[in-house]
Amino acid sequence: MELALTLLSFLFPSRCILCGQTVSAHADKKNIELCGDCYGALPFNMNYCLRCALPLVDGVSKNTLCGRCVRRLPDHDYAYSLFRYEGDIIRLIHQLKFSEKIICARSIGELLLSVLMEDGALSTERPDCLLPVPLHPSRLRQRGFNQSIEIARVISKKLSIPIEYDAVIRCRRTTAQTGLNASRRQKNIKDAFSVTSELSHRHILIIDDVVTTGSTVNELARVLKNKKVERVGILSIARAPVKG
Ligand SMILES: [Zn+2]
Ligand SMILES: [Zn+2]
Repeated sequence: MELALTLLSFLFPSRCILCGQTVSAHADKKNIELCGDCYGALPFNMNYCLRCALPLVDGVSKNTLCGRCVRRLPDHDYAYSLFRYEGDIIRLIHQLKFSEKIICARSIGELLLSVLMEDGALSTERPDCLLPVPLHPSRLRQRGFNQSIEIARVISKKLSIPIEYDAVIRCRRTTAQTGLNASRRQKNIKDAFSVTSELSHRHILIIDDVVTTGSTVNELARVLKNKKVERVGILSIARAPVKG
């Protein structure tokens, strides 16, 4: 088995998904197809709001809430985001969405998992299920796959937490959120999700790729809380910093 794997990686060396450089099989301990240089340069979200994962400016003390959450708490209870949405991460997520590179989803899933583990996020309590943010059926047909499901699959397999595929649907096709400000986004997404069957889960972890203003995940969390889900968390690849 070991020999076969070595032979395979020699014949089909994995390439860094950002720069194309060959990634050695041994350096690639976490199954992440990224070279050391690209990995080291990624904008990890080190200091963030505990409630919504908004990147906080350097100098603000850790483990705190952002100004927006202090003014009004979101419907979800906690949030983790691996990266700030900037630089190479924008490119990485763009690849994930539009070039059908499932391998990116796997790499990103592995990265998210390592953050959850290191942070001890799952040491005290585990979610009962993972809920990838549903796409509207027409959007899904257009794109061919839901990137959040691909990421959830990796986490589900490693942690043996089931994925909820059907209980929540996107019942209304919304116009793209890009270019809208926070309050217009909130209006745009209102009542976009509906719960179609009984939810028996107490604690749900929503999986999304990019959280911009947080209105989509917050709306989903609101719908879940209305259905008596006690605890809702958000796990995303990247969270946009506040503009300006
Ligand atoms: Zn690279
Ligand atoms: Zn916040």
